[in-house]
Amino acid sequence: MQTQPKASHFIDGDYVEDTNGDRIEVVYPATGEVIATVHAATPAVIEQAITAAHKAQKVWASMTGTERGRVLRRAADIMRLRNHDLSVLETWDTGKPYQETSVADATSGADALEYFGGLAGSLTGEHIQLGENWVYTRREPLGVCVGIGAWNYPTQIACWKGAPALACGNAMIFKPSENTPLCALKVAEILMEAGAPAGIYNVVQGMGAVGAALVTDPRVDKVSLTGSVPTGRKVYAAAAEGIKHVTMELGGKSPLVIFDDADLEDAVGGAIMANFYSSGQVCSNGTRVFVQKGIRKRFVARLSERLGNAVFGDPMDPATSFGPLVSARQLEIVMGYIAKGVEEGATLVRGGERLDQPGFWLTPAIFDNVTDDMTIAREEIFGPVMSVLEFKDEDEVIARANDTEFGLSAGVFTNDLKRAHRVIAQLEAGTCYINSYNDAPVEAPFGGMKNSGVGRENSKAAIEHYSQLKTVFVRMGPVEAPF
Ligand code: NDP
Repeated sequence: MQTQPKASHFIDGDYVEDTNGDRIEVVYPATGEVIATVHAATPAVIEQAITAAHKAQKVWASMTGTERGRVLRRAADIMRLRNHDLSVLETWDTGKPYQETSVADATSGADALEYFGGLAGSLTGEHIQLGENWVYTRREPLGVCVGIGAWNYPTQIACWKGAPALACGNAMIFKPSENTPLCALKVAEILMEAGAPAGIYNVVQGMGAVGAALVTDPRVDKVSLTGSVPTGRKVYAAAAEGIKHVTMELGGKSPLVIFDDADLEDAVGGAIMANFYSSGQVCSNGTRVFVQKGIRKRFVARLSERLGNAVFGDPMDPATSFGPLVSARQLEIVMGYIAKGVEEGATLVRGGERLDQPGFWLTPAIFDNVTDDMTIAREEIFGPVMSVLEFKDEDEVIARANDTEFGLSAGVFTNDLKRAHRVIAQLEAGTCYINSYNDAPVEAPFGGMKNSGVGRENSKAAIEHYSQLKTVFVRMGPVEAPF
């Protein structure tokens, strides 16, 4: 498969190159080989993207919602038809195994395009009768939206931000992470093929500086970031300067609480989904696994046994179920945390070893006997490292689970129905699970509380974050004035 794109950027309906921009080498995480090269956007490229988006947005917003929705739904169909090729590209870009990418990336991007395509024709304001006078509201687009993505789900993030933005009549300029620049270009190509006007969805490459230049441009009306809390702070502050709308999908250190009446196999399965999918590089991961005293030993033993079934190997082989980390830098960060866990006295039950082969491979790690104050229990690692913490009772575990700056996700495993809802109601997290973990259907709002973010992606809730209301008061009688 051709991994080198035709050019670095996609602007105004076509590929654009400017080799004056810094060179970005795209590395295949499974082998460390360079598979493509792109260039960061220069000021001229950024200008071209903003000008194109600004112009196209007016045309797009003048179409009916049904017409816009038709384009998005056509794009969804094309994505599904090309799922194989898009999944292979996602694997080249991220290193995630094809077993995952073929069911979780282009497919969830297509879900977003289909869902918001379906909603586009039903976006309305309301009518408020006030005696003989009345008010109506118009739901209007924001204008030009900037999306900035993390590297773990490059296709999905490009669609989760693009689909609601476009449904509401906005234009999008998307900047992928410099680690994974390839997939968003395909999303742009597909949208054009589906009939979107040139300039309505643009992709520009670059590091943080390109993101910062986009965020501070006065012609940009909204910024949606998926990234870490420190980056979120910078981007939120820069957007505040221009009083821009924001959505912040940031990091987490989410709790997964397993009570001793839970089904052990399900709880182990949930903990695996909460820690090791995408080699642990998932923002909503439940990396603090609180297990009630009575079942902790059995839980750890069974978990360790099941991790033995993970298949490492060529990520393109559908049998492979565990891939490498995204980059040498990420591998170094995660290994640093594993060393810290050992140093601070946690028990490394299994994993955490570098595989002796090219690429950024690390076996999934389970730490037992972790305490709340340890670094591995406080900081987001963003790699395959699970911490098991023992607890005795409900009130204690709720307090400990909430003792964090983050609030992205939380999960509870129990067969006690009342307890499940009672505990979830008290956990400070935006996206929660009962007897499950890490499901993210497009119909459900997704996002964080506390430092994990602002705003929601997916579902009807996202519409609120990509549109604004205009209130129009209509007087039918004479105007009364004091003089
Ligand atoms: P980063 O915060 O490092 O980067 C996120 C994006 O922001 C990248 O495209 C980056 O560019 C860009 N960026 C960096 N600095 C600036 C700046 N000053 N102004 C504008 N843009 C900037 O995150 P990672 O890419 O390392 O992704 C991992 C993080 O993302 C984790 O914390 C994870 O939890 C979070 N995440 C959150 C999700 C959610 O939905 N809540 C989902 C997925 C991940 P570049 O990297 O090219 O320099």
